[in-house]
Amino acid sequence: IDSKLPDIGTTIFTVMSGLASKHNAVNLGQGFPDFPMSEELTGLVNTAMKDGFNQYAPAPGWMPLREAIAEKISFLYNTTVDPDTEITITPGGTYAIYTALTTVLQPGDEVIIFEPAYDSYIPNVTINGAIPVLIDLQFPDYRINWEEVKKKITPRTRMIMLNTPHNPTGSVLREDDIEALREIVQDTNILILSDEVYEHLIFDNIPHQSMLRYPDLLERSFVCFSFGKVYHCTGWKMGYCVAPSALTKEFRKVHQFNCFSAHTPSQVALAAFLQNRESYLSLAPEMQQKRDYFQDLMSKTRFTPLPSYGSYFQCYQYNRISDEGDKDFAIRITKEFGIATIPVSAFYRSGKDDKVIRFCFAKKESTLAQAAERLSKI
Ligand code: GLN
Repeated sequence: IDSKLPDIGTTIFTVMSGLASKHNAVNLGQGFPDFPMSEELTGLVNTAMKDGFNQYAPAPGWMPLREAIAEKISFLYNTTVDPDTEITITPGGTYAIYTALTTVLQPGDEVIIFEPAYDSYIPNVTINGAIPVLIDLQFPDYRINWEEVKKKITPRTRMIMLNTPHNPTGSVLREDDIEALREIVQDTNILILSDEVYEHLIFDNIPHQSMLRYPDLLERSFVCFSFGKVYHCTGWKMGYCVAPSALTKEFRKVHQFNCFSAHTPSQVALAAFLQNRESYLSLAPEMQQKRDYFQDLMSKTRFTPLPSYGSYFQCYQYNRISDEGDKDFAIRITKEFGIATIPVSAFYRSGKDDKVIRFCFAKKESTLAQAAERLSKI
């Protein structure tokens, strides 16, 4: 057939997880926790099923869950969002991003994407006939060069895609980024897609620069979130999208004829779970402890750390070890040393290779210790 995505192969996450199982490797590649999720939350979902919440939820989502999210947004960001018209529950964060792009993009529209970029972004844009306009984040701190963004804006620019905390690098937006963004978008019709699936996983007391904090930016934004990422249940495929009512109305038109609605018992359970603020306030310190534990172990290896301020990823350079390309290196250490990671060149369309690999540290301490033991031999 005439492929709609001719340049796209199998996602690197599938490739590296497959290789990890084949070689019985410690898998710090694909981003998912190996420790159990909250027992309270699994209890709540069991109860919801037993109580008979097993039929379709309303397409925009179970109302008590949307209300709980609106309450959280008001508490964390001091912003009022209408759960009826501005929040939609989705089967996963990736689905929310795809739906938002499909809702607004017309053929020929330009979308600014920063690389390294999560690997679904570019195919999500091109399948809609739109054009990715790629800008490299500045190596090695992976911050945005806003002067370059200004130069790449044209009358066709329809959207800027942001991701904070950032996958794969763990960089985060700062207040001065918000100022620069504001200056660029004001008085234009440029929309923002903000991927905030690692919302609660931000370290060192850095405030999360959510678009939800800024009403003038929120009014042009789709902001996408993931329960799977923050509550350690990536297999649930549960997320949500917050957007002003005019955008949400169009988003729901696409959603209703695609998945229609998300898993009902999980929504009922999450609505109850979110009532307790600790359910999200406890997440950053827990994950920060894992980052620090992993960094400490890794300091005894020959890998060179790059900073991680959020997400559950940390990148390392291996240029003191080898001059192989990062894919070759990642494949070799999976096979020879039993440790799977993700080569960061997979997140550049050009395949740009800074000899950096990504590790997921959302793992039990014993897993991280075993990984570091193997890595110290490289
Ligand atoms: N978001 C996950 C990661 O970055 C991968 C999810 C997936 O495999 N689609 O590792």
